[in-house]
Parts: sequence; structure tokens; C-alpha cells
Amino acid sequence: MSHHLNPEQREQLERLLRTRIATLRQQLDAHQEGRTRAEHARDVLLQDGDDAPQRDADREVDMALTDLDTAEIAALQQALQRMQAGAYGRCHECGGDIPHARLLLEPQALRCVTCEAARERGAPAHPRL
Ligand SMILES: [Zn+2]
Repeated sequence: MSHHLNPEQREQLERLLRTRIATLRQQLDAHQEGRTRAEHARDVLLQDGDDAPQRDADREVDMALTDLDTAEIAALQQALQRMQAGAYGRCHECGGDIPHARLLLEPQALRCVTCEAARERGAPAHPRL
């Protein structure tokens, strides 16, 4: 159990996680509903295939956005599970405490700032030959 977060801070972060999950789910629902309506309208209005490339591009952007939201919801839910398991707020790489301020910005954070930075730089380094 990580003790660097006091009960109020944990509660605050749990609320934050739950709020974000709810917001993303709403976005996802609204987005999917909007897409269905737009596709229906296009099917009705455009019987020939002149705009097919544009339609494919639109669909790719839609799918990328949906994937991002879905991945974020999964990450947030995993963070809630870690909280229930008492493992929340601990760095996945080095086992160190993830600072409260960082968790407020990114409640699903898996790594401390140092490990995250190392990861973004591509560490552990695989030198190119
Ligand atoms: Zn770390």
C-alpha cells in the first residue's frame, strides 16, 4: 500500500477518475450517435460513389477518435482497480510514489515523472547499428 496519498487525496482522485470515465462515455455515445446519423444522411443523399475517398478518410478519423476514447476509458478503469487493490499511485517501473500533483493532471498515470520521461525518450535504449 502506498502511503503518500492521504484518504482525502485518494477520494479526490477516485472522484476524478469516475468523472472522467463518465465524460468520455458520454462523448463516445454522442459521437457514435452522430456518426450513425451522418452515415444515414450520406446514404440517402449520395447514391453515387464520387465522394468515396473523403468518406473513407472521415471514417478513419472517427475510428481513431473512438479508439483513443476507448483506450483512455480502459486506462482509467484500470486505475480504479489499482485503487481498490491498494496499488494506486505507485510507479509501475521503479515502484516509487507518483506525486499527487501528477496524479491530479493524469489520474491514470502508471509511471513517475522520471520513468515516463525515460520511456518517452525511448529508454531502455536500443542503440541503432
Ligand atoms: Zn518510476
